[in-house]
Amino acid sequence: MAAMTSTSGNGRPLLNRRLAEFGTTIFAEMSALAVKTGAINLGQGFPDTDGPEEIREAAVRALRDGRGNQYPPGPGIPELRTAVAEHQRRQYGLSYDPDREVLVTAGATEAIAASLLALVEPGDEVIALEPYYDSYAASIALAGGKRVPVTLRPDAAEGRFRLDLDELRDAITPHTRLLLLNTPHNPTGTVLTRAELTEIAKLAVERDLLVVTDEVYEHLVFDDGDGTTHIPLASFPGMRERTVTIGSAGKTFSYTGWKVGWITSTPELVTAVRSAKQFLTYVSSGPFQYAIAEALALPDSYFASFREGMRAKRDLLSEGLTAAGFDVYRPAGTYFITTDIRPLGESDGFAFCRALPERVGVVAIPNAVFYDHREAGAPFVRFAFCKKDEVLAEAVSRLKSL
Ligand SMILES: *Cc1c(COP(=O)(O)O)cnc(C)c1O
Repeated sequence: MAAMTSTSGNGRPLLNRRLAEFGTTIFAEMSALAVKTGAINLGQGFPDTDGPEEIREAAVRALRDGRGNQYPPGPGIPELRTAVAEHQRRQYGLSYDPDREVLVTAGATEAIAASLLALVEPGDEVIALEPYYDSYAASIALAGGKRVPVTLRPDAAEGRFRLDLDELRDAITPHTRLLLLNTPHNPTGTVLTRAELTEIAKLAVERDLLVVTDEVYEHLVFDDGDGTTHIPLASFPGMRERTVTIGSAGKTFSYTGWKVGWITSTPELVTAVRSAKQFLTYVSSGPFQYAIAEALALPDSYFASFREGMRAKRDLLSEGLTAAGFDVYRPAGTYFITTDIRPLGESDGFAFCRALPERVGVVAIPNAVFYDHREAGAPFVRFAFCKKDEVLAEAVSRLKSL
């Protein structure tokens, strides 16, 4: 038998040119290291506790009752589309027609891919906030677009990563097709302010850009007495008609394996995104769609206690990381903390994260993987805090031995 080679089929590399730079992800490498060393995995962002029991039971009921076991409707089941529209109305006063302005997707990941595949022509420039969620770069590449990173800069005085609006303005060219935004922002934990969003909206309108906004952490925003809250970009003047808003049940209800996501937008944009989506998964997650329709209708108390529980975890890990000697950028949103390792006498996040499991038994992710300008992300390392308190406490006690 011929040995597997890295080229074949006219002698070309197996992986096509668009995806060549996206071999395996750091998450696979780090999770394998976690297993091999028995380290606590604060790398990948999934909760170690499932979401509400009643929502799990709703999924079981749907399975038993034979709801969603066969292909659900292409746009998603009507109950879920209605629940998504009602959620946007109740939370933000935004009104969407469940029949024409909501599309259910296989998680936010498919929503991102389908939006870019539908809206981007080869050669179009797509501006994304760097560091960015890893699927953005790959989805832009699949669409043949050119990614243009705008770097969020650490602001020591404010204790957060900040968008430089002048840098954003300068990145826009006649070839810019869309802005791909993310607030609350993974991995920095930055929540864009009303003033920042106002300026972004003005720019998008002035330059007639489409906007795809990833708001999967909309329910993980922590008001530390400064009034921080999640404001959807679609709620700003001139934005509803040019914005595809992406949501997902995974992060809000702690069922990341169910892969139920959605977009809300205009009928025209929803139709365009559906054109791509129908040939990716066509449909997905049948019975889970029924369960998430119920989840979105949970009372405000669910969302508040979910958020407060995560805030306590954020504080536990932030304080522990500070005590262990890291510079901590305490996040205003998401379930990630970005730290600076330079106070520990380190400067290379890759080397630090590769050694950390052996050194102290904890896995983290080097932020540099989320950058095109790797040097800008070199000293930053991300920890996830969506874990049981005792797991976080053990991780902190291990990190203190650094
Ligand atoms: C987790 C995550 C996603 C993916 O969400 P799924 O619904 O699991 O596909 C998308 N964007 C960001 C910023 C995320 O952190």
